[in-house]
Amino acid sequence: MELNILTLCYLIGSVTFILGLKMLSNPATARKGNLIAAGGMVIAILGTIFLYTDDAGNKLHNYGWIFGAIAIGTVIGTLAAKKVKMTAMPEMVSMFNGMGGACAALISIVEFNHIAHNVVPGFHQTYIPDGAKGILLIIIVGLIIGSVSFAGSMIAWGKLNGKVKDFSFKGQHIFNIVLLLVILGLATYLIGWIPENSSIVFYTIFFLSLLYGVFFVFPIGGADMPVVISLLNSFTGVAAACGGFLYDNKVMLTGGILVGAAGTLLTILMCKAMNRSLANVLIGSFGAKPTGGATTVTSEGSYKEISLSDAAVVMSYAHKVMIVPGYGLAVAQAQHACHDLEKLLEAKGVEVKYAIHPVAGRMPGHMNVLLAEADVSYEKLLEMEQANEEFPSTDVVLILGANDVVNPAAKTDTSSPIYGMPILDVELAKSVIVNKRSMKPGYAGIDNDLFFRPKTSMLFGDAKKVLQDLIGEIKNL
Ligand code: NDP
Repeated sequence: MELNILTLCYLIGSVTFILGLKMLSNPATARKGNLIAAGGMVIAILGTIFLYTDDAGNKLHNYGWIFGAIAIGTVIGTLAAKKVKMTAMPEMVSMFNGMGGACAALISIVEFNHIAHNVVPGFHQTYIPDGAKGILLIIIVGLIIGSVSFAGSMIAWGKLNGKVKDFSFKGQHIFNIVLLLVILGLATYLIGWIPENSSIVFYTIFFLSLLYGVFFVFPIGGADMPVVISLLNSFTGVAAACGGFLYDNKVMLTGGILVGAAGTLLTILMCKAMNRSLANVLIGSFGAKPTGGATTVTSEGSYKEISLSDAAVVMSYAHKVMIVPGYGLAVAQAQHACHDLEKLLEAKGVEVKYAIHPVAGRMPGHMNVLLAEADVSYEKLLEMEQANEEFPSTDVVLILGANDVVNPAAKTDTSSPIYGMPILDVELAKSVIVNKRSMKPGYAGIDNDLFFRPKTSMLFGDAKKVLQDLIGEIKNL
């Protein structure tokens, strides 16, 4: 009877994960979807804790440890989620993803020690029964993928918050490939031959996988970062699915596979958006800044500025205005002011739309989340391809704190770190107004020729302040 209830709990968990994931694909239902999936997770966890019995009929007994850990995790998770700034979300996602990878690696270590019996006292001599080869395979796969995901996510976290700088050396590609081959070779040796000193081989694989995670993410710079984050996310999913196999736990398996599949799909979509091949990302060290670190490049050319009142006139008398939001909009928390400007212009008969680049901001979907927070209608958000089709019929493009995603160097400068990344072709519009605080570069650390082009006018200042002043000017017209 208990087993049936547990199976039902797992079924509810699996269904709510799928339902939640589906609802997450639309900003209007995303919040509810998240809650539904979390509810399913709670049911699955509580079911496991209170109803699970092993083959010998034993129930879980170490409730103190289990609930102690849950309490600590809940407090840290709640505080972190409440405190985090919107602009620091990608860092937090990376950090939490890394924790998932660490859990998967720890499960592998615990389970390895369950099947490896010491025949001679001491660390080096271990005996693993031949019949355990299948389980050993899953343990090793979980160990490698979980460790790479943990170490890689920690480096990505450090890079996103500026604590870790890009680092690469000559021949790093080769080094990474050799390291990966050594890990796979040792894994094959361990599973195929089960040597007496299995523990040494096992922990060497663990250590080298951590090292690979570090070297895999270290050199990757601006352009490829979003791809790597979603790739590491899918790694964690696959590593968790290995745990599901090990424990014959259906909900863990389903959850892991869903995360793995969703992460892989997102990785492919991001690769497409940035015109990077997945193979390049896997080998690592592509998309790195050529000089390493955040360089500040300033252009020699001259640019023209536009006053608030002129910008207000140009936009008020336009037929169609396209807003291009970027990372600066998130920094300024200007999404509500942006929505107010949109409503004001529409009241004057101007058609207003938003052009969303897939890697604008600092995390996949950053701009969608930001604008949804301000109640901007989802129908007004155009994806890059759609927006590029509509720019020729646009009178004014208003760029709010975006830089790399509108940089023409991605199309023309083969030496640029963002060369090949599709961009928003804002120059197809009749005129372009760029709002940012200075002439400083964006995330990729490179100059942007767009600011010096004849169609472009600069409107300097903090995005929120500028938008509020712009609204005031338009109201006074
Ligand atoms: P960028 O980082 O290229 O540029 C943002 C611009 O905003 C800066 O040039 C800055 O200029 C300006 N800015 C900063 N604060 C303000 C403010 N308060 N008011 C007005 N402007 C401000 O942003 P994009 O969105 O164009 O591009 C995203 C970049 O981030 C890409 O290179 C992408 O690869 C990378 N990335 C994306 C991730 C994702 O998943 N979306 C994840 C990780 C990286 P100034 O200082 O002069 O104001």
